[in-house]
Amino acid sequence: MKVLVLNAGSSSLKCSLFEMPEGRKLAYCEVERVGSEDSEVTFRAGGSEQRRPCGVPDHGHALDIALASLTGGERPVLDGLDRIAAVGHRVVHGGPMTESTLIDEETLETIRRNAVLAPLHNPPNLEGIEAATRLLPDRPQVAAFDTAFHARMPREAHLYALPYSLYAERGVRVYGFHGTSHRYVARRAAAMVGREPGELNLITMHLGNGCSAAAVRGGRSVDTSMGMTPLAGLVMGTRCGDIDPGLFYLLTEWLDQSPAELYDLLNRDSGLAGLSGVSNDVRELLAAASEGNERAQMALEVFCYRARKYVGAYFAVLGRVDGLIFTAGIGENSPEVRGEICRGLEGLGIALDPDANRAARGADALISAPDSPTAVLVVCTNEELQIATDVWETLEGAG
Ligand code: ADP
Repeated sequence: MKVLVLNAGSSSLKCSLFEMPEGRKLAYCEVERVGSEDSEVTFRAGGSEQRRPCGVPDHGHALDIALASLTGGERPVLDGLDRIAAVGHRVVHGGPMTESTLIDEETLETIRRNAVLAPLHNPPNLEGIEAATRLLPDRPQVAAFDTAFHARMPREAHLYALPYSLYAERGVRVYGFHGTSHRYVARRAAAMVGREPGELNLITMHLGNGCSAAAVRGGRSVDTSMGMTPLAGLVMGTRCGDIDPGLFYLLTEWLDQSPAELYDLLNRDSGLAGLSGVSNDVRELLAAASEGNERAQMALEVFCYRARKYVGAYFAVLGRVDGLIFTAGIGENSPEVRGEICRGLEGLGIALDPDANRAARGADALISAPDSPTAVLVVCTNEELQIATDVWETLEGAG
């Protein structure tokens, strides 16, 4: 069965075509800068890549272009669009939804209702769904929510100590994000150590441009570092992560900024970029630090310290930890950052194998010492494959 997976962001559309249940990726198409005159289309299939500029006014046109790439060219990936059996969509905020769901009027209403919680993400996700409904009519569509994996966290983990009415009447709670990635790497790590996900307690660290940690007990998220919004928790490329909420009031006063301007500062001018004044990119920070740039070094230290603190917190949450998993751009590729996060954690049962850590770049690997009580793994995340798997399982389940 051929499953198309769409990730419609505010100014981009990413599409992956999978053969399921094998999980083989047949093609990938990305349209960047949707909504501008100078959009760019990248198409990858059969080991080759093509890039071309073109004007793409909206997500509907972007999907049109992606579908034409699949059926066009000298060696088309598909002989017709009717070969696509189903579509999966990444949707950021699913509110109370606990798992991937067939898209019907009720699901659409849930996504619309939760747009207030993810105003930059749910509206383009909806546009992606509308475009697919128009261009691939009568195909079952499934929504995979970033929040779903965390939706069943116990109340002591998801409640803020705020007036309870804010939770009861407005849904103010920890939702958490990157759920599809945490779920995928937790399952994959279990397979790598030859155990069932249900038997394991894991800490998963998704370290990319956005960063989050999750405590996973028996295949379920029981705590996570992002909150009501993706601003909380770990230090990120440009986001501050945890700060004293009192600062929000003080800084609006001192900087004479509106709440919206300050929110922007916390989201876009903070994190590694704000601390270092060099870059939000860990590669550039490592290079600058090795040349003696003190602020780049300091930013990396703060980043790793915060991550280490969450590892410690999740040891307390889980009691016993079978595996610590690093994933996403930084987690998969930076031995320096992984080493620094794990430094001094031998007392908790974490001992890296320095050679294995150094060698693991962009590939799944076990990087702990053979006698480390907690296994440490690098697992390459694959949210698209997880969504395609969810589509397949949802449709199989539906008979
Ligand atoms: P996104 O959250 O946008 O999906 P990624 O998971 O691709 O992001 O992570 C992007 C980040 O990964 C980059 O900003 C960079 O800091 C980091 N990164 C990528 N490759 C490396 C590398 N070889 N060494 C260190 N960091 C890397």
